[in-house]
Amino acid sequence: MEPKTEVTYIVVTQGNLFIISFENEIDKNKILKNEPWQIMGYLLVLKKFSLHLSPQQIAFDTALFWITFTGLQLEHQSPEVIKLLAAAAGTFREVDPAENAPRMAAGYRARVEVDLHKPLSQGTMTETLYKGPTWVGFEYSSVPFHSCKKCFRFTHDTAMCNEAPPTVTELLRITTIGGKFQQQIHLSGKRNHSTSTQRDNK
Ligand SMILES: [Zn+2]
Repeated sequence: MEPKTEVTYIVVTQGNLFIISFENEIDKNKILKNEPWQIMGYLLVLKKFSLHLSPQQIAFDTALFWITFTGLQLEHQSPEVIKLLAAAAGTFREVDPAENAPRMAAGYRARVEVDLHKPLSQGTMTETLYKGPTWVGFEYSSVPFHSCKKCFRFTHDTAMCNEAPPTVTELLRITTIGGKFQQQIHLSGKRNHSTSTQRDNK
């Protein structure tokens, strides 16, 4: 059984601001690694803090989420390409698995830092070698109940949605994936040449 994480104290500094103190660094990192956290269906945004700062100096504008992908083609299945795709959701932080290991059914996931003031990006168009532009969708894990499933913002619940639907650019965050992406495809195409019989048979 995993040892319990020791929290020494929790202080409420203002209505919705808390300072959480841990017994040690390992415990703190364990909690940060498992973001996002929720309290009663509300997103709990965690930021590192030290005592020479005041809580008001910390910006709670972003949070970390794991995303998985729908619609990935064979040529997208490398950490380098996943990294480029994930950049359409937010600031890329991590890809899992990181190495170019043979893929099992679970596929890739990426950790991204998303801007909480913008709608959650639902996917991106990407280029492919044989199918032309293709849609790759994002699925976020642990999106809190108290968020909007219509316009994908965190500022209100779905039932309270008065926001204009997100614009195409907001949703797609179409990035400059084109050039870089083509290069990645060629690189991974070359690297996998001996095994990519599917492509050679076309
Ligand atoms: Zn809404």
